[in-house]
Order: sequence, then C-alpha cells, then structure tokens
Amino acid sequence: MPTFVYMGRCDGCGECVNICPSDIMHIDPVYRRAFNVEPNFCWECYSCVKACPQHAIDVRGYADFNPLGHSVRVHRDTELATVFWKIRYRDGRQKEFQFPIRTTPWGSIQSPADYAPPDMSTLGSPLLAHEPEALKVDRLPGLPASGATP
Ligand code: SF4
Ligand code: SF4
Repeated sequence: MPTFVYMGRCDGCGECVNICPSDIMHIDPVYRRAFNVEPNFCWECYSCVKACPQHAIDVRGYADFNPLGHSVRVHRDTELATVFWKIRYRDGRQKEFQFPIRTTPWGSIQSPADYAPPDMSTLGSPLLAHEPEALKVDRLPGLPASGATP
C-alpha cells in the first residue's frame, strides 16, 4: 500500500528523495515532481510523508488498520515537534492522533559523513560502528573484547 504524490502540491524540492530508505521516490525529469517509481518496494515507513514540506504525499494504508476507500494524512509540525495523523474511513468517520516526533531536535542527528572514517584495524572486531559508546554500556562489564571468542 504505497505512497503517492499529489502533483498539484509537490514543488519538486527532493526531500522525499533524500529520505526514502528504499530509494524509490524520484523526481520526474520532465514535470519536476516526485513520484514513487516502484510501489511494490515501499516500506510504508512514512518517512517521506513526514518530511514533505508541502504535505504532498499520501499513503494507501493496510486494510487491517484502514479499510479500502480511506485516506491517511500525516502532518509534521516542527514548531510543536509533533506528528499529527488524520484517518478518514470510507463511512465518513475520522480518527485523529498526535504524537511527539522524537526525543532529539529535528536535524540534530549526525550523518555518517560527520564521523571519522572507520579504522581498518577494527575489521576483526565484533563491535559495530560507534560501539560501545553508542550503546552507552561502556562502563558495564560483559562486552566481548575485540577478537575474543564467546
Ligand atoms: Fe520510501 Fe518510506 Fe516513503 Fe515508502 S513510505 S516511499 S519506503 S520513504
Ligand atoms: Fe514533492 Fe514533497 Fe517530495 Fe518535495 S518532499 S519533492 S514537495 S513530494
């Protein structure tokens, strides 16, 4: 149940292209508007919906939470740091929800390019990038030492 774009609202800014983890939001080279190039590969993660400044993207939701004929609108309010959901059922009923966006300010998360390049000597380590500091468990015992067998 993928995303689709209201062409009349889209201004071609590309925010949805940048954020889509499935790399399926593209800008049409002729009309300069976004569209979903492979609906079957949409994760329904709503990242593009929340990121779109024009509120131009909609999603046809799963039938288990929304029967056919519905609409799901998502509005990200950066001032209030909330995401507002409005679900309209085909019988006319509406449900509205509002949640905090996140616990960190919008845009404050470091991109991978902001970190130092990985050290090749750590290739044999069982730790992933930014571990153990990112796990916030560096003071706890029990993390395997680099190269140790469990
Ligand atoms: Fe990409 Fe997620 Fe938007 Fe689908 S809902 S187009 S996977 S960002
Ligand atoms: Fe269009 Fe919204 Fe995508 Fe920008 S983020 S290109 S306005 S659909």
